[in-house]
Amino acid sequence: MTRGGPGRGPAVPDGAASPDRGPVTGEPVPGESVTGEPVSGKPAAGGAAAGGAAADSGCRILHVDMDAFYASVEIRDRPELAGRPVIVGATASRGVVLAASYEARAFGVHSAMPVTRARRLCPQAVFISPRHHVYAAVSKEVMEVFRSVTPEVEPLALDEAFLDVSGAIRRLGPPARIGALIRATIAEQQGITCSVGVASSKFIAKLASTHSKPDGLLVVPADGVLAFLHPLPVAALWGVGEQTGQVLARLGLRTVRDIAEIPVGTLQRELGLSLGAHLAALAWGRDERPVVSSTPEKSIGAEETFASDIDDPEVIRRELLRLSGRTARGLRSAGALARTVVIKLRLANFTTITRSRTLPEPTDVARTIYATACALYSAAGLDSRARLRLVGVRTSGLVPASRAATQLAFGERPAGWRDAERALDRISGRFGTDTVRPAALVTGQPDEPFPRLSAGSHFQAPDESARRPPGEPARRPPAESARRPPREG
Ligand SMILES: [Mg+2]
Repeated sequence: MTRGGPGRGPAVPDGAASPDRGPVTGEPVPGESVTGEPVSGKPAAGGAAAGGAAADSGCRILHVDMDAFYASVEIRDRPELAGRPVIVGATASRGVVLAASYEARAFGVHSAMPVTRARRLCPQAVFISPRHHVYAAVSKEVMEVFRSVTPEVEPLALDEAFLDVSGAIRRLGPPARIGALIRATIAEQQGITCSVGVASSKFIAKLASTHSKPDGLLVVPADGVLAFLHPLPVAALWGVGEQTGQVLARLGLRTVRDIAEIPVGTLQRELGLSLGAHLAALAWGRDERPVVSSTPEKSIGAEETFASDIDDPEVIRRELLRLSGRTARGLRSAGALARTVVIKLRLANFTTITRSRTLPEPTDVARTIYATACALYSAAGLDSRARLRLVGVRTSGLVPASRAATQLAFGERPAGWRDAERALDRISGRFGTDTVRPAALVTGQPDEPFPRLSAGSHFQAPDESARRPPGEPARRPPAESARRPPREG
C-alpha cells in the first residue's frame, strides 16, 4: 500500500482540470505523486510495478472524504485562520462540535463533542457558527466532480462518497491516478483538501481514506488487504460501536486479526447470528456490497436559448447538431451510455414541447444522438413559421459504458463512430474543444469547454447560455489551452 504525498496544499497543478470549474479530465497531474514507500513488499501504486501488475489493479472502488470539511471551508474563506485551531459548532450552550481543524484535533477535540468541553480542551481555538448553505453549495460542486468521473457515485454524507471507477479506467487511467485527479481537481476548484482510499471493496476503501488523512491517498492492493486490516483495532470494523466493543474486549479480542482467528460460532454466540457473521466476514476483508448510486434517474444534456427567436429549420438543426456533440462528450466524459434521447423545443410564446425516443442500443455517439434529435424535431410537426426561443437535447436512461461495452462491440457502425468521436475527444482535450468540430459548425460559435453534467433529470442551466447571443464566443479563460500540456497523460 502506498500513500500519496500529504501536506500538499491546494496548489494548482497545471491542466488537472479545466479552470472554469469543469469536470475532471484526463489531463496529466504533475503536482501529484502517488508513489510512496512500498509497505510490506508491495509495489508502489499509480504505476506499473517492476515486473508485475500495478498495485491498484482490481481496486475499482474509491472512497473520497473531505478533510475536516466545515472547518476547511471556513479556513478557505478566512485565510488568516490557516494554521490555527478552528472549531465549527453551534455556539448555543448545548451545541456540539461539527468539525475541528487538525490543529484543534491535536488538543483532543473531535466532532460530536459538546462545545463546552471543546472550549475547556482548547480555549484558544477560533469558534465559528456553521454556515450550512455554504457547505451545501461546496458539497454540490464536489459531487459534480465525482459524477464527471463516473455515474456510479454513492454519497454517504455532504463530504464523502463511494465511487465505482470501473467505467472510467480506459478514459482516465488506473484507479490511483483517478483518485489523484479528483484530489487535484477539488483542491483547485474548492481550495480544500480531501483524502482518497482506493481498494477492491467499500469497507477497505473507507478505512484507507481514513488512514491517509489528511490530504492523502492510500491504495490497498487486493492482495494486501489482510496485511492492512489485521493489525487494526476491532473498532475499525463496520458495526463495532461502544457496546459491541465491550463484548469483544471481554472476549480478549483487540485486533481485527483476533476476530478473524476466533471461530465464527463463538462470535455468533456472543453477538448474535447476524452481527457475528458480519464481523467475521469483514475481518477477512469480505465485503461484496456494490456502489449504489443514489440518483438512479440521471440525465446528461445541453440546451441553448437564442438571443432572438429562430424560425429557420436549418439553424435549428445546426443547433441540435452542436448540442448533440456536447451531450455525447458529456456522456463519454461520465463513462455513461444513454438509452433515451429527448429534445426540448420552447416556442416564442413559452409553450414547451418535449419528444423522446428510446434507442435499440444505448449510445454515447453524437451522430446517433443527432440523427434521433432531428427525427424527433421533424416528427414534432411544428408549423413552418413556428418561432423557437430555446432548443435542448438531453439523454436519459444512463448505463455505465463498461457494462454495455460488449454489446457495442457487436453493433455495426456505432463502434466505428464511437472510436472516431473518442479520437476527437482526445484532440479536443489537447488543443481545446474548438479545434475539431463537425463541418456544419465551423462557421458557428465556439463550443463550451465541457457540457455540465447534471445528476437530476434537468437540463443545463439555461440562464448561462441565454446570456450569450449566437455568434459571440463562449466565455473561456484565456490561459486554458496554454496551461494544458500538449501531450497525453
Ligand atoms: Mg470528512
